[in-house]
Amino acid sequence: PPDVEQLGRATWTFLHTTAAYYPEKPNSSQRANMLMLLRSLPVLYPCTWCADDFGENIQKSPPDVSGRTALSKWLCERHNEVNQKLGKERFDCAKVDERWKDGPPD
Ligand code: FAD
Repeated sequence: PPDVEQLGRATWTFLHTTAAYYPEKPNSSQRANMLMLLRSLPVLYPCTWCADDFGENIQKSPPDVSGRTALSKWLCERHNEVNQKLGKERFDCAKVDERWKDGPPD
């Protein structure tokens, strides 16, 4: 079976970075493909209990693919739900661009 922690870090890196660089005004193809990417996780993610819980998580809170700011916030909130489940600290979603796009202020 995969290393669930390493897989998780790699997957969150991919997802948050992809959200950070998603267009502010996505076209219909970009929106549709982002929805497919996110909806495929509960089906394909190779940690089955993670995938099942994430599926319930996004049933309750459907993806907001309307633009990069909304998507980044939505994903941050979903990640925080996983953090909470695992007893990890919540991440301040106001800092999501600093973490995944801009880097620390100088
Ligand atoms: P991670 O949680 O991997 O976070 C990586 C980095 O992201 C952090 O160092 C921090 O800088 C940043 N970060 C943290 N929180 C946020 C946030 N809310 N928004 C933006 N950036 C943030 N593991 C399980 O054991 N059980 C599960 O059910 C489970 N479900 C998962 C579901 C999904 C969809 C994914 C992608 C992963 C899941 N994992 C699960 C893995 C788990 O979330 C962690 O990735 C893993 O435990 C490693 O944690 P970490 O402390 O290294 O940091």
